Amino acid sequence: MFVRYFDHAATTAVKEEVLKEMLPYFSINYGNASSIYSLGRQSKRAIDNARMQVSEVLNCHPREVYFTGCGSESDNLALKGVAFENLHKGNHIITTKIEHHAILNTCKSLEKEGFVVTYLNVDENGFININELKSSITDKTILISIMFANNEIGTIQPIKEIGEIAKLKNIYFHTDAVQAVGNSRINVQEMGIDLLSMSAHKFYGPKGVGALYVRDGIDLKKIQDGGHQEKDKRSGTENVAGIVGLGKAIELAYKNFDKYNEKLTSLRDYYISQVEERIPEVKLNGDRKTRLPGNANISFKGIDRRSVIIKLRCKGNMCI
Ligand SMILES: *Cc1c(COP(=O)(O)O)cnc(C)c1O
Repeated sequence: MFVRYFDHAATTAVKEEVLKEMLPYFSINYGNASSIYSLGRQSKRAIDNARMQVSEVLNCHPREVYFTGCGSESDNLALKGVAFENLHKGNHIITTKIEHHAILNTCKSLEKEGFVVTYLNVDENGFININELKSSITDKTILISIMFANNEIGTIQPIKEIGEIAKLKNIYFHTDAVQAVGNSRINVQEMGIDLLSMSAHKFYGPKGVGALYVRDGIDLKKIQDGGHQEKDKRSGTENVAGIVGLGKAIELAYKNFDKYNEKLTSLRDYYISQVEERIPEVKLNGDRKTRLPGNANISFKGIDRRSVIIKLRCKGNMCI
């Protein structure tokens, strides 16, 4: 049976072209990027090339891009790294109630270490309230971490406005952009973003590799001890093939950005309108317009989500 996959917020398949770029780094180009002979230099060059591919999309310098093991690790490094490095300035962090667990549970663990976290509310469409953000800031606030776009309801936050507030108050601004990379235009300069997390497997790259953008001049406390890879911000021999895949995947995502996302947006709106037209008592969650191009989140009154998922596995009496 032909399977139609509708869960790209959970993960995506690796694109052919991405896989092709990666393959040599599992076999012939197996050098350790820290080795100073040619096999190692090749790996280092491949990593530097990926750093450039990421920096071109974000509008930052390649040296501001650090590779990690996943989106969750990028989030941990950003939050714990900034928090522990800036304890002398303050212990207050602002985030939202609708972050991914990579942020929420990191905040919980920071609370156990003595940090104070404010979890902002969101309105019925999933937006934070800018005034609530402003009034939450204290002279102890060191970091604001607000996701670029939500992984369930797809709502895109007013990132530029948040960036302006953070800058005005001299507070670092981190955004978990794991859902946004590939589906939103991102410009860290224009948007005032100081740190940004991404994960390759959400934009047709491989699983097990992520990146963190860290604005020049921001120091992070290391969260994993070991060698001095990634300018001593992230220890561990680099996942060269994965990093090459991340670089190629992000390049491709923005090469075809308008065409791909316009099509996705029109398919999304068609899908939502058809469901609303044909099924009684449905509710679209999130904002109708300011949402990820590929995101539709709908509640069906009186129906448990698990039974919908189980039924959607079948067509007639054929099930997968
Ligand atoms: C998927 C996701 C993560 C976690 O990324 P992993 O690479 O799976 O660790 C973090 N934040 C958001 C918003 C996500 O969608």
